[in-house]
Amino acid sequence: MTVQTPETRKIHLLIVDDEEQFLRATAKRLEVRGFQVTAVDRGEKALEAAEKQTIDIAIVDLKMPGMDGEKTLSALKARHPWMEVIILTGHGSIDSAVKCTQSGAYSYLQKPCELDRLLEVVTEAYKRRVMNKARIKEEKMQELLGPALSQSPLAILEKIRQIEQDAEG
Ligand SMILES: [Mg+2]
Repeated sequence: MTVQTPETRKIHLLIVDDEEQFLRATAKRLEVRGFQVTAVDRGEKALEAAEKQTIDIAIVDLKMPGMDGEKTLSALKARHPWMEVIILTGHGSIDSAVKCTQSGAYSYLQKPCELDRLLEVVTEAYKRRVMNKARIKEEKMQELLGPALSQSPLAILEKIRQIEQDAEG
């Protein structure tokens, strides 16, 4: 069984981990289950990837050379506030991982983690992403409804389309 959004666009995951074998294996297993996966081994590359494409959920290793998981998390959230981020951590880094959830990560998982557990957390994070988008759209629609009466239908249509597009980022 594969997972797809109603628009049939695949859910796009960004995996960031400097352990190449783990990165490849996890990407492959998620792809097989119907996700679109972008896999990179550095925080810097994660930022580049997120600029080029819409990422739904990032799965970010805490310990990496260069930009570590904490820095990658805050940079991603600053640029893409509606992206959800899951932190991956090894033994002995739980405190830092908890700190990450306080600064915007959806959750954290300890490595090695079962794929089923990862899928559960990805599902929950995606639920939050969709709910966030819906809430923002609702707020913007409410703003629009007041002054909308005096506007032409095409002007209203254009604004609604803009709300839809803004929520994609
Ligand atoms: Mg690492």
